[in-house]
Amino acid sequence: MIEALALNADLHCHSDVSDGTLSPEGVAARAHANGVQLWSLTDHDEIGGQHRARRAALELGMPFLSGVEISVTFAGKTVHIVGLGFDIDDPTLREGLEATRGGRGQRAREMAQALAAVGIEGAYEGALKYAGNPELVSRTHFARFLVETGVCASTPEVFRHYLAEGKPGFVPHRWATLADAVRWIRGAGGMAVIAHPGRYHFTPLEEHAFFSEFKSLGGEGVEVVTGSHRPDEYGKYAALALELGLYASRGSDFHSPDESHTDIGTLPLLPPKLIPVWEMLAERVHTP
Ligand code: AMP
Ligand code: MN
Ligand code: MN
Ligand code: MN
Repeated sequence: MIEALALNADLHCHSDVSDGTLSPEGVAARAHANGVQLWSLTDHDEIGGQHRARRAALELGMPFLSGVEISVTFAGKTVHIVGLGFDIDDPTLREGLEATRGGRGQRAREMAQALAAVGIEGAYEGALKYAGNPELVSRTHFARFLVETGVCASTPEVFRHYLAEGKPGFVPHRWATLADAVRWIRGAGGMAVIAHPGRYHFTPLEEHAFFSEFKSLGGEGVEVVTGSHRPDEYGKYAALALELGLYASRGSDFHSPDESHTDIGTLPLLPPKLIPVWEMLAERVHTP
């Protein structure tokens, strides 16, 4: 048996069911080719790809955990909560995610209007063309359109100039509450995990409040090693996980072979002493 911390688990990535560019089967194949030993597909606010992902993983002989990444508004900021190991067919989780996705169409139209006001026309249709799932138009799809039309050279550049908070194409949005997201995941038998905490630009006080509230709602895990963290943040969140008694997760946040700087299954292993989320979710893993 492989020691738990040495497992090449990748529990955070996206397919074209949300804002990735590969199909669920394509992401499964890439994970398998890269040596992933436990895989989870975590599309934004959507579990419509889970049955396909699970089937593809099991056909490849790769153990699978169900996954999702839920958009949450906390203290006026957008944060992401990953759910792992839940029942894919749970009706409350499905309905909650459907409601969370509901505002995206209107938001996309408002984003297009805001971009038109700075001279960028046709962004709604342009973004929709990239969305594999019409219910899930995301800022990433707008970014691809702005790269295609030569407005910017890369998607990070689009975010810097147009789509990040405070930039001309940014439209504020109210997502799920932290309480709802954790309740839906737990209600479906899964574990709630804070996604890429290093990305939120919280003050130390805000970050403390976020982690405390998450824990008191029944949240149990935190991503320590993620493609969205700088290496110096691995240590910071490893220490925090140990201090707060949270289980640790690892995932590339892979979106596309052309855009993602971290390929699936290629991150460093979790640091010592941590308890990995997969040790607690062993009974929820689907094995070939
Ligand atoms: P949305 O859920 O529509 O607000 O889109 C959020 C997605 O945009 C994230 O999941 C990332 O895939 C992408 N994103 C956010 N910030 C950046 C950035 N600075 N560079 C590239 N992609 C980003
Ligand atoms: Mn994304
Ligand atoms: Mn995220
Ligand atoms: Mn993600």
